[in-house]
Amino acid sequence: MAKVAIVRCDSYDQELVNNAVKNGIDLLGGIQMICKPQERILLKPNVLLGTDPNNCVVTHFTVFKAVAQLVKEYGATVLYGDSPAGLQTMSTAMQKSQLARVAGELQIEPGDFDHGKAVSFPDGICSKQLTIANAVLDSDGVISLPKLKTHGLTRMTGAIKNQYGCVPGHQKGVYHAQFPDVYKFSRLLIDINRFVKPRLYVMDAVYAMEGNGPQSGEPKKLGLLLFSTDPVALDSVACRIINLNPRFVPTIKECEDAGLGSSSEDDIEILGEPLLSCVDKGFDVVRSAPIPVPENVILNRLRKFLVDKPIIAKAKCIRCLRCVQTCPVEPVKALSCDDNQKVPVFDYNRCIRCFCCHEVCPVKAIEIKSPKIKKLFPVISYVSLFLANRHSKKNRRVVS
Ligand code: SF4
Ligand code: SF4
Repeated sequence: MAKVAIVRCDSYDQELVNNAVKNGIDLLGGIQMICKPQERILLKPNVLLGTDPNNCVVTHFTVFKAVAQLVKEYGATVLYGDSPAGLQTMSTAMQKSQLARVAGELQIEPGDFDHGKAVSFPDGICSKQLTIANAVLDSDGVISLPKLKTHGLTRMTGAIKNQYGCVPGHQKGVYHAQFPDVYKFSRLLIDINRFVKPRLYVMDAVYAMEGNGPQSGEPKKLGLLLFSTDPVALDSVACRIINLNPRFVPTIKECEDAGLGSSSEDDIEILGEPLLSCVDKGFDVVRSAPIPVPENVILNRLRKFLVDKPIIAKAKCIRCLRCVQTCPVEPVKALSCDDNQKVPVFDYNRCIRCFCCHEVCPVKAIEIKSPKIKKLFPVISYVSLFLANRHSKKNRRVVS
């Protein structure tokens, strides 16, 4: 049975975080269950974009520091890193999020996330070859440090999605364009997770992000750290804490359907705090399943009236064009901005709704808009889930 430890942590005070991290890892059996002395252990925080840690976009540096200290004291060599979204380099992202400063204090070296190699993965259910960052390939094991946030594409991002940052730079956009359907994209994430196989997940939910995540939402205090060696169980528990049906999250649903874990409460043992005492019913998250991309051309056209779309708040836009540069649709991008336009303009017929543009906007000018019909008829959420189930059944392959 999968185990998830829930530990209260009221603030990012370093001593409080240290105690909570030690407590959580001990509940799972202790650091000796995770790594051995002399091993090279890579810490993989979520650094979507280097920003002030108080914005809640990145895993907080105190959580990173607490885990790094424990692993280091146990005698392992610690490395760290992540591949940020857009054109930002890892070095800039780590400095802005203060992780580089903390790593310097602990004399921890960064791994190479700017470059990677194509590796063969014959067991892949979505891709037999993956491009993975050198830092991951050079380590003996990975500890994943996700941040609990809402996400325009996958509803929430947590333990499973955090490994997408193990794909270096530009290749992330290539994968988005290659797998525009969120359910297929989630199966790619399954392959990446099965390849990387983190040994432990420590989720930062002291302050989570609600609303317009994963970059433009608002901090929401939950006062929790979550621990598990099972990413499906961990994300499912996180969903219950934010009052979201785990089956609405494509990453969880696809992992579960592929036999890689269970989101059922009956299959998960909760350690530490009782789950019910941690639930935030008012957490602002989209409570519906994304609609899959049908193969039928006419149905695909109809789908466009039901799916969320990115829009630009003109008054906020500073015309930096990061969104245009990041859009993975090639050769003609799905948003453009010529000299006569004050802000970029979307071509929704080309847009694959990957929301990469939304992730990189530095001034939160891009919002995700739900069609009115979805708000008027909440039953569409369950129709989406039904369609997603049918869609997945056609493509399902159970893996070991
Ligand atoms: S929408 Fe955001 S990312 Fe795009 S040009 Fe405007 S400010 Fe830059
Ligand atoms: S316009 Fe935005 S959401 Fe649409 S494909 Fe480009 S990056 Fe993705």
